Amino acid sequence: MIESMSAYRIREYGEPILRKQCVPVGSVGLREKEIFDRIARTMYEAQGIGLAACQVGIGRQLMVVDVGGGLIKLANPLIMLREDESAIEEGCLSIPGVTIKVKRAMRVLVQGLNEEGRRTKIEGEGLLAHALQHEVDHLSGILIIDYASSQEKDSFQSELRELEEKARLK
Ligand code: ZN
Repeated sequence: MIESMSAYRIREYGEPILRKQCVPVGSVGLREKEIFDRIARTMYEAQGIGLAACQVGIGRQLMVVDVGGGLIKLANPLIMLREDESAIEEGCLSIPGVTIKVKRAMRVLVQGLNEEGRRTKIEGEGLLAHALQHEVDHLSGILIIDYASSQEKDSFQSELRELEEKARLK
C-alpha cells in the first residue's frame, strides 16, 4: 500500500511520452483511482498546481489540478466552452527553468469523468482556467514552449538542450 502511494518520477522535456496523444480511459476503476492519488501526491510534492498522467509516464487521459481551491481529478477531459482571453506566466514541472506568458481562454467549461467515474463539469476562471487548459494540452502532447515566439524560444534554447541531453541518458 505504501509502495503504491509513493510519488512517480516526473518525465521531463526530451522524453518521448510528453509528445504522445494520450488514450481515453474506458472507465474509472480502482487502478485509475490509484493513478489519480499518486499523480496528486507527485504534484503536491513538486509544489505544482497541475499534473497530467503522461508527465509521470502513463499515456492515458487522466489529470489533476489544484490551484488552491481543492483537488480536481479528471479523466477524458474535453473543453466545452472557452470565453475571453488572458495571458499568464506559466511554468511546467516537465520543463524546469522555463516560464512563458501563455495566452489562453480566461474562462473554460471542462467536461470529463470524476474519480467516481461519473460525468462531471468543471468551470474555471483565471489561473484555474489556465491550469485546466495546460493539463488538457498535455494529454495531446502539447507543451507551453509550443506557444513561445521564436524570440522566446531562443532565450531558453540552452535549458531545452540540457534537458534533451539529460533525457538521452535516461
Ligand atoms: Zn505542464
